[in-house]
Amino acid sequence: MQDQYDYIVIGAGSAGCAVAARLADSRAGSVALLEAGGHDFNPAITIPIGIASTVPKPGPFNYGYATEPQPALNERVGYQPRGRGLGGSSSINGMIYIRGTPSDYERWAADGCDGWGWEDVLPYFKRSERNERLGGQAEDAWHGGQGPMDVVDTRSTNPFDRRFLQAAECAGLRYNPDFNGAEQEASASSSVPSATASAGMQRGPTCTRATANRSMAAATTCRC
Ligand SMILES: Cc1cc2nc3c(=O)[nH]c(=O)nc-3n(C[C@H](O)[C@H](O)[C@H](O)COP(=O)(O)OP(=O)(O)OC[C@H]3O[C@@H](n4cnc5c(N)ncnc54)[C@H](O)[C@@H]3O)c2cc1C
Repeated sequence: MQDQYDYIVIGAGSAGCAVAARLADSRAGSVALLEAGGHDFNPAITIPIGIASTVPKPGPFNYGYATEPQPALNERVGYQPRGRGLGGSSSINGMIYIRGTPSDYERWAADGCDGWGWEDVLPYFKRSERNERLGGQAEDAWHGGQGPMDVVDTRSTNPFDRRFLQAAECAGLRYNPDFNGAEQEASASSSVPSATASAGMQRGPTCTRATANRSMAAATTCRC
């Protein structure tokens, strides 16, 4: 380990890993990525159903915060899981790849957040994504096909999923084959970020974990 770095990124969660990885890839200087928690190599993280053990209560991978009493909820205290360790909350999250609604970003931009309009952020969504529906093609109107984060359709659907979607249609909620496309409203089965193929792991969204590992390696072994 060196004792001096050009960049120090604090927190190896989704954002920190992406920033550290981009810095390491750009060879702009040496990068240290500091994380309060431990490594992510644990079945509770690498196997999707591990969420059942990591999320319900605080533990080594979950800070398990509590909100202030909420006046609008009869002073109830809410439970707020947050990930701790390499990958941060992406190591314990629900693995559903979903963006904000374009109108949300437009509202932020209108409120003064320059550079946060939908047309501003869409290229970054595309750049980060390798959506298997594109079959390696660079991009389409809504998705990227060659980024570091694999996004795949749910593979293990079961009869109840289909029944649920049919019931939603019967109730008047149209089926939406892509809730990260032109419209978010409607029922849909999910797209799951997964680096299974590229990182050899069984749980996503391993983009952050894979890039974290790369960044950590860059931070600890080379001075770019
Ligand atoms: C249970 C759960 C389910 C979710 N499901 C989904 C989903 O299905 N789809 C979706 O898109 N999003 C989901 N999310 C949300 C998504 O995972 C988060 O929005 C995202 O990971 C947040 O990224 P972040 O970089 O802001 O923070 P985090 O990923 O939380 O990273 C913060 C990191 O900083 C570290 N840290 C904090 N303080 C320090 C310090 N002083 N020094 C060093 N390190 C520190 C923490 O330990 C942590 O690793 C879910 C989140 C949770 C908790």
